[in-house]
Amino acid sequence: SLSDLQPLGLDPILSIAARVARDPRPERVDFGIGVYRDAEGHSPIFAAVKAAEARIARDQRTKAYLSPLGDTRFVAAMSAAAFGEHLAFAGLQTVGGTGALHLAMHVLAATGSGRKVVLGTPTWPNHAPIAASAGLGIRTYAHRADVGGAFDPAPLLQAIATCSAGDVFVLHGCCHNPTGIDPNLAQWQDIAAAIAAAGALPLIDLAYQGFGEGWAEDQAVVALFHDAVPELLVAYSCDKNFGLYRDRVGMLTVKGRDATSGQMIVQHLAAAARTAYSMPPDHGAVVVRTILEDAELSRLWRSELDAMRARLASLRQAFAMALEARGLGQPCLSRGFGMFGMLDVAPGDVEQLTERFAIFLPPSGRINLAALTDATIERLADALLAVRAG
Ligand code: PMP
Repeated sequence: SLSDLQPLGLDPILSIAARVARDPRPERVDFGIGVYRDAEGHSPIFAAVKAAEARIARDQRTKAYLSPLGDTRFVAAMSAAAFGEHLAFAGLQTVGGTGALHLAMHVLAATGSGRKVVLGTPTWPNHAPIAASAGLGIRTYAHRADVGGAFDPAPLLQAIATCSAGDVFVLHGCCHNPTGIDPNLAQWQDIAAAIAAAGALPLIDLAYQGFGEGWAEDQAVVALFHDAVPELLVAYSCDKNFGLYRDRVGMLTVKGRDATSGQMIVQHLAAAARTAYSMPPDHGAVVVRTILEDAELSRLWRSELDAMRARLASLRQAFAMALEARGLGQPCLSRGFGMFGMLDVAPGDVEQLTERFAIFLPPSGRINLAALTDATIERLADALLAVRAG
C-alpha cells in the first residue's frame, strides 16, 4: 500500500537552501543553488523578457490547445538562433531541458535492446535517475581535468572504445555541470570521430549556451557532431539563457539518418509527451519566440546575456587569483567555463565552512560562481585557507 513508501533523502542542493533560510547569521551565503545572480544577489528577470511578456499580455488572443509538439514557431526560431539556419534538425518543444532528456531517454529505451546510457561523472545529478526511469542501464567514466586543469579525454575515449553500438553518450555541450571543465574543439573532434566509429549515439545536453566562451562558440559542438554522425539528439534548455527557470522552456532537436526518419523520431517523442503531460506549457516558449522574432528585443536579450557571461568570467578569474594568492591555486577553476566549479575540498571541509563561516555549499564542493561578490571572494578564499589550516 502507499503507506509502505519509505522517506526519501533530501536533494543535497535544495536542502542547503532550506538550511540557509533557517540560519540566523547575517553574513550567510548560499553557493549551492544553480541560478544566475547579479551583484546584489538577485536572480533578475531579463528586461527583454519583461518587454515580451507585456506584448504577449496585450496581443495574445487565445489560449486554445496547441499539440504535443508545443509551439513549432518557437522550435524553428530557437534552433535557428542556437545552431544556425543551415543545420537541419527536426524537433519539438519540451518541458525544459529535463523534459527533453526524459522524452529522449524514453524513446531510446523503446528502440534497440540493451542500450546503455554512458555518463561522465560527476554530472548533473538528474541524468542517471532520468535514464533509470526509462529502464536504461548506466555506465560511467571519470569526467575530470588533467594536472594542468584542462579536460582529460582519456577516460571518455576509453569508454567509447569499449561501448556497444547504440549506446547513448550524454555530453554536456558547454559549461559542464558541475566541474566547468569542457573539452576543447580538437578534443571534441576526436570524441565525435570515436563515437561515429563506434556507432554510438550522442545526446548533447545544452543547458548553458551563452554562459561559456560565447553564443556561437558554445554550440560549436552541435555543428561538429551534426557533421560527424548520422543520428544526433540535442536536449536544449532556455531556462538559464533567458532566465525563465520556473517557466520550464526547452526543446529536443533531432538529426535522423534522413529527413523522413528525423520526422518519425519526433512523432515518437510527441507520442511520449502525449502520455506524460499532453502538451508543454506555452508561456515561456512564446516569450522566447517573441524575443527571437523581434530584432530589437533580440539585441536587448543578447546584451543582457553577454553581460552575465562577462560577469561570471571575471568572478571566476578574481576568485582563482584570490586562491592563488593564498597558495590554494586550482588550475581547473581558472580554466573552467560557466556558472559552476568544484572546490578542492576534503570530506568535513564543507561542514566546517558552514559551521565556522556561514558558507553553504553541497558536500561535493560545487560552487555557483554567480553567488560570488567582490566581498565574498575574499571571505571564501580566507575561509578555505582557515579550514585547510585546521
Ligand atoms: N542539464 C543540465 C546539465 C543542467 O544543469 C540542467 C539544469 N540545472 C538541466 C539539464 C535542466 O534544465 P531545465 O531546468 O531546463 O529542465
